[in-house]
Amino acid sequence: MLKYLTVPVTPFAQNCSIAWCDKTLQAAVIDPGGDLEKIETAIQQLGLNLEQIWLTHAHIDHAGGTAELAKRHSLPITGPHPGDQFWIDGLAQQSQMFGFPQAEAFTPTRWLKDGDTVQVGECVLDVRHTPGHTPGHVVFHSPQAKRAFVGDVLFAGGIGRTDFPGGSHPELISSITERLWPMGDDTVFIPGHGLESTFGRERRTNPFVGGT
Ligand SMILES: [Zn+2]
Ligand SMILES: [Zn+2]
Repeated sequence: MLKYLTVPVTPFAQNCSIAWCDKTLQAAVIDPGGDLEKIETAIQQLGLNLEQIWLTHAHIDHAGGTAELAKRHSLPITGPHPGDQFWIDGLAQQSQMFGFPQAEAFTPTRWLKDGDTVQVGECVLDVRHTPGHTPGHVVFHSPQAKRAFVGDVLFAGGIGRTDFPGGSHPELISSITERLWPMGDDTVFIPGHGLESTFGRERRTNPFVGGT
C-alpha cells in the first residue's frame, strides 16, 4: 500500500510529499522545491530508499531543488508534461525573482502525458494531465489508497492561479471537473499548499468549483 508524508518546504510552504511502498520501502519524492536537508532527514528517519523524483509542474517552489537532489542521489526525474519546458528553462530566473537559492534547469528522464502511470515499489499511480495553472501540470492518483497529489490545481477552498504565462482559467476548471472529480468524492487530495481535503468536500463547498 502507498504511504506518504508531507514536508512543507521553501518560504512558500510548498507541500513536498515523500511517497513510498510500505512493502518494499522504496520511495519517490514529489515536488522537491527546496530545503533538501529537511526532505533527506525525513527519508532517513523513515528508513526509506529514495529512488525517484516526480514533478507536478515546474514552478520554483515545486521544482527548485530537483537538479540538486537528482545529482546528490543519482535519481531519475519523472514529469512534468512537456508543456512546462519553458518553466524548467526559466528556473534560474524564477529563483532570482523570488529570492530562492540559485536553482538549475534539468532534463526530465521521462516526460509524462495523460494516461501514463508511475510506479514506486509495488504501488502504481495514474497520471492525469491537468493544464490551467501551468500548461504542463500533471497530478498523481492512487486509486488503491484513494489519494491524489494535485500540486497547484486545486486547494482546500481554492484553485490554482491562472495569471502566469501559459495559464488558462477555463482549462483549469475543465482539468478539475473532468480529470479530478471522476477520481471520486471520497478521494483525499494533497494540494501544493495548505491542508488536505476530499474532492467531495470541494464539490460541495469550494467557491470556485462548488456545484460542478
Ligand atoms: Zn505553481
Ligand atoms: Zn506552488
